[in-house]
Amino acid sequence: MVKAEGVHKSYGAVEVLKGIDLEVRTGEVFCLIGPSGSGKSTFLRCINHLEKINAGRLYVDGELVGYRQKGDKLYELKDSEVALKRRDIGMVFQRFNLFPHMTALENIIEAPMQVRGVGRAQAKERAMQLLERVGLADKAGNYPSQLSGGQQQRVAIARALAMDPKLMLFDEPTSALDPELVGDVLDVMRDLAESGMTMVVVTHEMGFAREVGDSLVFMDGGVVVESGNPRDVLTDPQHERTKAFLSKVL
Ligand code: ATP
Ligand code: MG
Repeated sequence: MVKAEGVHKSYGAVEVLKGIDLEVRTGEVFCLIGPSGSGKSTFLRCINHLEKINAGRLYVDGELVGYRQKGDKLYELKDSEVALKRRDIGMVFQRFNLFPHMTALENIIEAPMQVRGVGRAQAKERAMQLLERVGLADKAGNYPSQLSGGQQQRVAIARALAMDPKLMLFDEPTSALDPELVGDVLDVMRDLAESGMTMVVVTHEMGFAREVGDSLVFMDGGVVVESGNPRDVLTDPQHERTKAFLSKVL
């Protein structure tokens, strides 16, 4: 579903991604861990067309991200082409996901109606099913300010799902939450994983990574240091940097 080959990304003179190689298989839960500043969010943003990579190749669902290849040459995609591709990828951030001036329901129906041209009645029906799925059917009329952080994140997940994405990206979706709210969000993510969704999850929740993750990558300094089965990497890390990081977070 996602394939990275020598992906480089710089901001000005600062190289943030220094040759990322990895592969996310369809249907798997792929967890990404690493210290602050290691490039995790940047990598997700590259997958989601929010940043253009400087070198290497990045594919989503077999297609190059951001570029079109003709012979040996690469051509940048137009904004309109990028927009078409982005709508197949759902993303949930750490916070500030929802439109504050819209209710939970309005947040969810917005993109299907505006981007996919779904009718209001149909969009609402689907939104209610999704709210049910994340356990918030009774909060459809609440504004984000009237929801807990955990409820907001669950609405954000429902909103992303309303576009029927083929890939879901999560960037530390629970790290801004009070501890007692984390479990409900992780339960929704676990349910989503069981439904077969392909998920790339940046997280500090090692329990989730161990129990739900199919693969785990430890990134540091813009490179993949270690990867493998989450249980193996978490219980028996091979590299000193992984060991040092895990000793701080576990
Ligand atoms: P965290 O765990 O704190 O979220 P991260 O692994 O997600 O960290 P990134 O947000 O990807 O790290 O940032 C990697 C590096 O890139 C950091 O040094 C950051 O300062 C730099 N960086 C990120 N975005 C930009 C930008 N738009 N312009 C310049 N530098 C940036
Ligand atoms: Mg980040």
